[in-house]
Amino acid sequence: MSKIGKIACFVMLISIAFGCCSQVWAEESICFGKTKHGRLAGGVSLPYSGDNFSAYSTVGWLAGRTYVHSKVAQVVLASYASLKKTIPDAVFVYGETGWESGGSFKPHKTHQNGLSVDLMVPVRDAEGRSVPLPCSVFNKLGYALEFDSAGRMGSLQIDFEALAEQIYWLHKKASAYDIRIWRVIFDSELQKNLKKTKRWTYLSKHIAFSTRRSWVRHDEHIHVDFIVPCKPLSHFER
Ligand SMILES: [Zn+2]
Repeated sequence: MSKIGKIACFVMLISIAFGCCSQVWAEESICFGKTKHGRLAGGVSLPYSGDNFSAYSTVGWLAGRTYVHSKVAQVVLASYASLKKTIPDAVFVYGETGWESGGSFKPHKTHQNGLSVDLMVPVRDAEGRSVPLPCSVFNKLGYALEFDSAGRMGSLQIDFEALAEQIYWLHKKASAYDIRIWRVIFDSELQKNLKKTKRWTYLSKHIAFSTRRSWVRHDEHIHVDFIVPCKPLSHFER
């Protein structure tokens, strides 16, 4: 292989590995069934990182646990782009989403058809700097972190303004891409802090927040389910 060929190959591999270039997918994904029992065709991986966001775990990303429906990927990425303009210093971490072909995604009870996304809460340190939520094998990739009802954990504080802004942009971009947000699951105690944010008036009108206690406390992340028209599962899959 020529030197130029080798360079082109290297650039292509890096592009694939980090999803840095194109965010337009040739084919739209197709979802089947429901978030609790479904699958996905043509799922796309969220990029490992971007200007103001990163995946929760390199291992999780490489293992293929961050695939979504292409429409959901477009909405999530477009919302990060808007957040870069409105809160330029804030950084965000996304969590688990699903397999490329959907299906059972343990330990999650949903995340089966590409329409569920976990987003780790944005946090600020003692100096007020926005920092990525520290997700590692020592805290179950972030999912074992525990915040108090005011959103504090040690020197870290949940940035509720940034979180509200993120949900706001997810809703706006979902409309722009012709899909909808079904619900946002977030710890009911912590939800109260969103009411003090400047986006609350909008969120209270447009977002269905969870009202019941869920099977696992959603304090270190929010779970977002989108609505995209899906095909039914076949008779044998039901
Ligand atoms: Zn989830």
